[in-house]
Amino acid sequence: MINLNKFSSYFVANWKLNGDFNFIDQFLDQLKIPKNDSKCVVICPTSVHLNYISTKKKGLYLGAQNVSQYKSGAFTGEISCQSLLDLKVDFCIVGHSERRQKYFETEIDVNQKTQQLIDAKVIPIVCIGETLEDKENKRTTNILAKQLDDGIPEISNSNNTLIAYEPVWAIGTGLTPTLDEIYQTHEFIKNYDTKFNNFKILYGGSVKASNAKKIVSLSNVDGALIGGASLKHDEFGKIIED
Ligand code: PEP
Repeated sequence: MINLNKFSSYFVANWKLNGDFNFIDQFLDQLKIPKNDSKCVVICPTSVHLNYISTKKKGLYLGAQNVSQYKSGAFTGEISCQSLLDLKVDFCIVGHSERRQKYFETEIDVNQKTQQLIDAKVIPIVCIGETLEDKENKRTTNILAKQLDDGIPEISNSNNTLIAYEPVWAIGTGLTPTLDEIYQTHEFIKNYDTKFNNFKILYGGSVKASNAKKIVSLSNVDGALIGGASLKHDEFGKIIED
């Protein structure tokens, strides 16, 4: 398992269902990787492209977008933690809101996937966040509390798990919370239980070159999870630049 403490910040590119060999070749050729190796830059392509990237990447870490909660067996179409380990995958996103909403993933699924990953020595990046309706009904902290309580297993700690705060209403919409709202929410997560005090917390939701520096410079934001903007090598390059 990667030593999370050697990094000062984390930038995770979630490519979702995008990319092909051509795109990957061009992206990796053109991306300017920061000299500062305390920045952990993670690319999460489709699972089919993990192996291709693993043979080509230099100065980047590899992440998956999802994993099965089961070790092995009759689960057609699923991807095991062991197969991620075989491909030298270092990180795996868990509980992304698209998986919660479109594939009906529950907190139990998130909890089991996170446990499996930790056992396999792959770092889970557990996504939590409120919907617009939750926010409007002032239920953000209740929702986050439930996701932390039920989705994060006992064995998780600051050395083996990352948390990504991703307000669902900010994903792919161009909207973001204010800097103060991000700061307050990260503060809530860190102080919700003493066990979360030292967790690294990334922010995700419409991060782009023009807002990334301000967001990541907040004292309790340890990096960013980036969707749309991570598909453009120049935009992503600006987000991760020193
Ligand atoms: C995401 O998919 O996790 C995400 C943050 O997407 P975007 O940056 O496009 O909002």
